[in-house]
Amino acid sequence: MHEETSVVRVGVLGCGNVGAALVTLLADQAASIEARSGLRLELARVAVRNLAKSRSVQLAEGILTHDAQGVVDDPDIDVVVELVGGIEPARSLVLDALKSGKPVVTANKELVANVGAELFAAADAAGVDLLFEAAVAGAIPVVRPLRESLAGTPIRRITGIVNGTTNYILSRMSEQGATYADALAEAQSLGYAERDPTADVEGFDAGAKVAILATIAFGTSVVAGDVSHEGISGVTPADIAFAHRLGYEVKLLAVAEHGGDGRVAVRVHPAMVPRGHPLASVRGSFNAVFIEADTLGELMLYGRGAGGLPTASAVLGDVVDAAGNRRRGTYASIGAMPRAVIRPIDEVSSEYCLHLEVLDRPGVLHAVSGVFAEHGVSIRSMEQEGLGDEARLIFITHEAAEASVQATLASLRGLDVVDRVRSVIRVVA
Ligand code: NAP
Repeated sequence: MHEETSVVRVGVLGCGNVGAALVTLLADQAASIEARSGLRLELARVAVRNLAKSRSVQLAEGILTHDAQGVVDDPDIDVVVELVGGIEPARSLVLDALKSGKPVVTANKELVANVGAELFAAADAAGVDLLFEAAVAGAIPVVRPLRESLAGTPIRRITGIVNGTTNYILSRMSEQGATYADALAEAQSLGYAERDPTADVEGFDAGAKVAILATIAFGTSVVAGDVSHEGISGVTPADIAFAHRLGYEVKLLAVAEHGGDGRVAVRVHPAMVPRGHPLASVRGSFNAVFIEADTLGELMLYGRGAGGLPTASAVLGDVVDAAGNRRRGTYASIGAMPRAVIRPIDEVSSEYCLHLEVLDRPGVLHAVSGVFAEHGVSIRSMEQEGLGDEARLIFITHEAAEASVQATLASLRGLDVVDRVRSVIRVVA
């Protein structure tokens, strides 16, 4: 038991999925946190948009308010937790809290991935914490390990499955042979996917997360707009069946790479992942972050990437950290960082799997392989399937730049022996 107990008054903005879970966790865990740390966390105020809404949590009289600014400005509040989401008013509220000397904890990936640099600078100027562990991969500790444990490790690449909705959909397609539309409908009925699933299925949510990971891992400011996206809505059961036949699973990957030239490549796209790779066994709504560095080799962090309670547990960890730092008169600075130089997607290399529908006649293979050679894309393997109208060629390339592959595709589409490019998907080596 700590001799001196510090009371820390927590103001929470938002009482939705994560906010309500945080309120519950705070009540459940306060005694054990106090016993271990000497910090007595007290829920002071909870701001919401609509006071009339029924809540899943009981709040004492006078705690709930619709005045988020009042919570930020309240001199009796020591730590502000932002769980509203979106950019505004979250950005202004967080900036005001930081400027008034209050540490802030947020789970808001959109905010950090778009205006993080402004917020980090404001936190630094005020000498207070801005912590956001829950903004990437929910309950999985990844921001703090990157900032602290791996601070001396030059990271080469981070590959994440950081969106549970798309991983759930792809897992259902893989395990049940479901179509994309059916797997999406099921994810929506279970509450894993929003009614408008665009942010998840088109890779924007994963893009915001990989921008944050790249920023922390490489110490250079990467924003959501730097990330190139390709979602999963074009992935078909045929792609997955073919991937299985070759020993792969199809996953939506968020990749951040630090090139030897100092430039950073950030992208989100589906990819064929070899079954023996640790990321291939990440199923359902789980997330994982796979880190590669020359010094440590490979490291994978795995767990629940979303959900009220798992996310709130990461938020609460940050609240305890911020409260402890405040008591010690210190803070964990990120501070100003140079803007990243982004490597354009055209220059990023990968292996690719190309699935072509072709005419069943002599000379087709020669014509098609000639196009690959013309654009400098070398073929690692080729399979021929079907006959007549069903004739298909499936190529796996060696590593090739995106621009060369796009040029190859344009030429292939112009060949009269190619009916259709059925799919193009990257392959993890
Ligand atoms: P949510 O369920 O939509 O809750 C948002 C809350 O913010 C609601 O309580 C809403 O009030 C309140 N709010 C909205 N505008 C407000 C305003 N102007 N002033 C005061 N309160 C306002 O969202 P969530 O799922 O809890 O997510 C919160 C944050 O956590 C987001 O940034 C999200 O990206 C992040 N996150 C969520 C998860 C997850 O699994 N859900 C995982 C990781 C990170 P009303 O209740 O009155 O509408």
